[in-house]
Amino acid sequence: MTIPFAVPECRVAHLVERHDDSLVVPVRLDAASGRCPECGQASRSVHGRYHRHPADLPLSASRTTLRIEVRRFYCRNPTCRRRTFAETPLTLLTLRARRTRRLCEAQARVGRACGGAGGARLLAHLHMPASRATVLRLVTHLPMPDAPTPIRVGIDDWAIRKGSRYGTIVVDLDRRRVVDLLPDRTAPTVAGWLERHSGVALVARDRSIEYARGASLGAPQARQVADRWHLLTNMRQAVERWLAQPTSVLDESEAAVVSRVEQDDTAQAVAGLARRFTALVRAAGKGKPLADDQDAAADIVAWITKARTCEASAIATFASGLEADIAAVRPALTEPWSSGQAEGQVNRLTLIKRQCYGRAGLDLLKRRMVLAA
Ligand SMILES: [Zn+2]
Repeated sequence: MTIPFAVPECRVAHLVERHDDSLVVPVRLDAASGRCPECGQASRSVHGRYHRHPADLPLSASRTTLRIEVRRFYCRNPTCRRRTFAETPLTLLTLRARRTRRLCEAQARVGRACGGAGGARLLAHLHMPASRATVLRLVTHLPMPDAPTPIRVGIDDWAIRKGSRYGTIVVDLDRRRVVDLLPDRTAPTVAGWLERHSGVALVARDRSIEYARGASLGAPQARQVADRWHLLTNMRQAVERWLAQPTSVLDESEAAVVSRVEQDDTAQAVAGLARRFTALVRAAGKGKPLADDQDAAADIVAWITKARTCEASAIATFASGLEADIAAVRPALTEPWSSGQAEGQVNRLTLIKRQCYGRAGLDLLKRRMVLAA
């Protein structure tokens, strides 16, 4: 009878023994000889035997442990420093491991989906218990996939600790996947990442100087696109700054009259500019630039020229900023790409971060974002 229970590199001696609440499967290693890890010479001279008891996948809804009979061989190579060595079934488990590789993988997958504490709770029900710390360690050791270098990326910042520490999220815009999480939002970090991933042709980003500099340094060949969502946010902030400005040094009633008179014209100009700007950006967001690329580009340049002479200094400053970043602002109105996807992924990231009660390290978050994508 063949036993329908396969253990890599091993022969199952007989099926199971029950020990309290768990099953034990006695197995022997398949190989006729061992190979010295020091010199590589094969040996059949057995020095002794001992047992290893790694936990394995559950069997028939019971916690399961293997009892592996391990042989210790003599190394007969006279020039070798080693006298004896133990055989190691490396596909089954790593050196000194207390759980098989396939169990590690199953536990890591549960941890990746449910987080440390949630994973530990679910694993207890699935008869392959592991502590929260173990689950987290297994997830951080999951290998990252060999994803193809993205061609178009969106980058955005996310709060590692709100108000004090920020990281960067990198999204593959074509594959709609998170590719990486970076530990900060500085130009050198972004540049370094882009250098390691040569071939990026387009970077959609917000209008921070650091990201602009990082993209120029790390991927000078790439086209930079200012993100439309951020453009609209920046416009709104400029209007808010203008509204918040103290009017003058006159007393209150005088100031109110003067500001009404003065601001009626300015207010109209500001409202008109804001409406026009929003229309320009929104039209591009719908994938239908106002007319063709040329017109959209001409429109934004005309808008900037007009806004720079605006009485409201907050708006004029915003327009000057746009002009300085025109190489990225222009394609925002003509290219379909935007880092809006990164925004969505930041929301997902925040959710996962909360699920880990804010204690998840960057490595763990990266794996949960990238591998579960
Ligand atoms: Zn040897």
